Amino acid sequence: MAIVSARSPIAACTRAQSRALPGCPCRSTTGHRPPAPVPAAMPPALRPASDALRAASPCPLAASRRGILDAVTSALLHDALAPLRSSPAASAVLLDIDGTLSPIVKNAAEARVPEPTRKVLTEVAKRYSLVACVSGRRAADARAMVSIGSITYIGSHGAELLKAGWTESVLDPAVREWADRVDAFRRQADTTELRRSRVRIEDKGPIVAFHWRGAPDEDAARGAVDALAARAEAAGLEVHWGRKVMEARPPVRIDKGAGVANLLRDASVTAAMFVGDDVTDLDAFAALRGLRERKTLEHALCVGVSSEDGPREIVEQADVMVDGTDGVRDLLRMLVAD
Ligand SMILES: [Mg+2]
Repeated sequence: MAIVSARSPIAACTRAQSRALPGCPCRSTTGHRPPAPVPAAMPPALRPASDALRAASPCPLAASRRGILDAVTSALLHDALAPLRSSPAASAVLLDIDGTLSPIVKNAAEARVPEPTRKVLTEVAKRYSLVACVSGRRAADARAMVSIGSITYIGSHGAELLKAGWTESVLDPAVREWADRVDAFRRQADTTELRRSRVRIEDKGPIVAFHWRGAPDEDAARGAVDALAARAEAAGLEVHWGRKVMEARPPVRIDKGAGVANLLRDASVTAAMFVGDDVTDLDAFAALRGLRERKTLEHALCVGVSSEDGPREIVEQADVMVDGTDGVRDLLRMLVAD
């Protein structure tokens, strides 16, 4: 099963893991980085998986025990999901799309949600009170990509809401006021020079994104995007960085946390889970935890998705990690398993 957590040694041995595995040949070696502090109140099963990504040399003993520990990990995840599974009618399942439901590809326009994942997400939507995809893409694009009409889409990092059954998305009024200025910036940025560096411009309505993934010279393309970021800030726009992407946004609060909080405000749920792979998903993690602290939610579960070039913050701040988009699909299957 492609699910990992902090307790699962993923073919790499860290100091924390060697402590967890008595007899590990890496136990007495030096040079490991120290593990991040773990909040005392957090159950061991849900500790951040930061150690798992601090790769040192491969550890054969850890690998040999992987099967046993994966089974343990799976059981622990089962426990983590228990509040949602026991009350699906009072639970929300919220997911990022790119890198979470769909594998990351060089050209974001070619990203697809694999059919097995789409199928199990449809089953989740039938059983749970609220299922929503929360994306940096336009809400309509997100719906076209996931292609499930019975769930809600929060687009443009929270600025757009497209509920099941709606024909058009609704844009946050404060964001709408800036839409023309963002559009003017996008047109000015679209120069021959930028196209030559193969930076791809994505029009996200109230947000414009500049991708350099897959450019022939990614360093040069990143340099061009750095210059654009400075111009965006000079124009009064806010700059946000993601995985090989820079976004220029209106200077009003737009983030997945605000989008998630607005959505849950009108929902009758007591438990919610958010699954994401990138720094923009951390706002959603924070929003869920804030709702739990204010007792609006009884249970909040933040699931990180590990990936090759994923940000360390996701590992550090997630309650639990799953391994890539396959791990997310397995997680969804656990949600609907009898
Ligand atoms: Mg993502």
